Amino acid sequence: MDYDKDCIFCKIVHNEIPSTVVYEDDVVKAFLDITQATPGHTLLVPKKHVADIFDYDEATAKAIFSRIPKLARAIRDSNPNIKGMNIVNNNGKVAYQSVFHSHFHLIPRYSENDDFS
Ligand code: 5GP
Ligand code: ZN
Repeated sequence: MDYDKDCIFCKIVHNEIPSTVVYEDDVVKAFLDITQATPGHTLLVPKKHVADIFDYDEATAKAIFSRIPKLARAIRDSNPNIKGMNIVNNNGKVAYQSVFHSHFHLIPRYSENDDFS
């Protein structure tokens, strides 16, 4: 299934719910998380509906994993105060996944003692 009509991230991918877009191409979209763990907290998703890490086909897996370092660099390079980044991917309710369209959190870190830990 490429589009799940009950999925909020499918709706964001298709611009049916607004989002602040950070990056987009034919296979992936990146947008700001509605809850900013730190400033610039971004979610990277495949455009097609993939529920979780267990649900990827090879081509979509290659596409999304190849874009993580590029997006991470672009976010880091956007702000000289970004000193590092947490990349988080939750899979399954027991692992704290709350939106069941696969996504990677890119969470910029600003200093060893920032207030966001
Ligand atoms: P999870 O807990 O599944 O790893 O992360 C889901 C993330 O999606 C949460 O950090 C939450 O803030 C974010 N989120 C939920 N609904 C929306 C929405 O409508 N728009 C955006 N931009 N983020 C959302
Ligand atoms: Zn979806």
